[in-house]
Amino acid sequence: MARILDGKILSEKIKNNLQIEIKELKKKNIFPGLAVVLVGDDPASKIYVGSKEKACRELGIHSKVFRLGKDAAEKEILELLESLNADKEIHGILVQLPLPKHIDEKKIIEAIDPKKDVDCFHPENVGRLMVGNGQIFPCTPAGVMEILKEYNIEIAGKDAVVVGKSNIVGKPMAAMLLNAGATVTVCHSKTTNLKEKILGAEILVSAAGKPGLITVDMVKPGVVVIDVGINRNAEGRLTGDVDFEKVSRVAGAITPVPGGVGPMTIAMLMKNTVVAATRIYE
Ligand code: NAD
Repeated sequence: MARILDGKILSEKIKNNLQIEIKELKKKNIFPGLAVVLVGDDPASKIYVGSKEKACRELGIHSKVFRLGKDAAEKEILELLESLNADKEIHGILVQLPLPKHIDEKKIIEAIDPKKDVDCFHPENVGRLMVGNGQIFPCTPAGVMEILKEYNIEIAGKDAVVVGKSNIVGKPMAAMLLNAGATVTVCHSKTTNLKEKILGAEILVSAAGKPGLITVDMVKPGVVVIDVGINRNAEGRLTGDVDFEKVSRVAGAITPVPGGVGPMTIAMLMKNTVVAATRIYE
């Protein structure tokens, strides 16, 4: 039976440490602040924004949520970002994705001051990450790297497979594993012979958003499996991309869903906000 990589416990540990750090910052008159921009009424986005607000409250991070209607004009969002970029009480800015279709997502992301880009989606921060000079890291892949570190899972020299090539998870995940010395294969919906590629993995990160995609016949015994996927099954229960029940019998280690990467993502967002607040005063 695989070792369970518990992201819930680790995220609590990280948040407890951040809470102490934030108290110390406040003694120096630094009050970390996060602005979250939510456009439209996507139910999943509303839940995510709620969780981020709650985490800020628990840690003592000042947070402001801007809720704009689904028909909000691009110009309105750009003006809001301009004012948040200039706001001295705000150190981190996050625009919850996805945005409604009529908004140019790239333009919005590029309008965020890279120093306040706590999601690490701005091309300047992505570029720094690629050249191994990142100061802030995208929350979900950063959460995965923290899990691997906490459980002493060696990355250098390992064959890693990342399933998914989104700008939010797959691509930065591949870059971070590569920077840590893994040999990385990135698979996506056009990949042929997916099984063959995944069978080569010593570390497998699945971020496809497809329940049941990774079955037991696709994995090598002893593999470290990180399941980033968050899906709802027919009964409405949260599930990852991996057939947890069967794969956990042959894997060396595995993250559960829920309780794996999900809580780590929020903890990393809190960490990035504290880093951004500290950096501004350097
Ligand atoms: P996305 O839809 O932007 O990207 C999915 C990627 O998976 C694409 O690159 C696509 O090519 C690939 N893919 C889809 N079907 C595939 C298949 N059958 N075989 C191989 N590749 C396939 O999604 P995303 O934003 O990267 O998120 C991926 C998943 O991770 C979703 O389930 C999402 O909910 C979850 N997610 C979780 C967290 C977290 O905190 N745990 C954070 C972000 C995203």
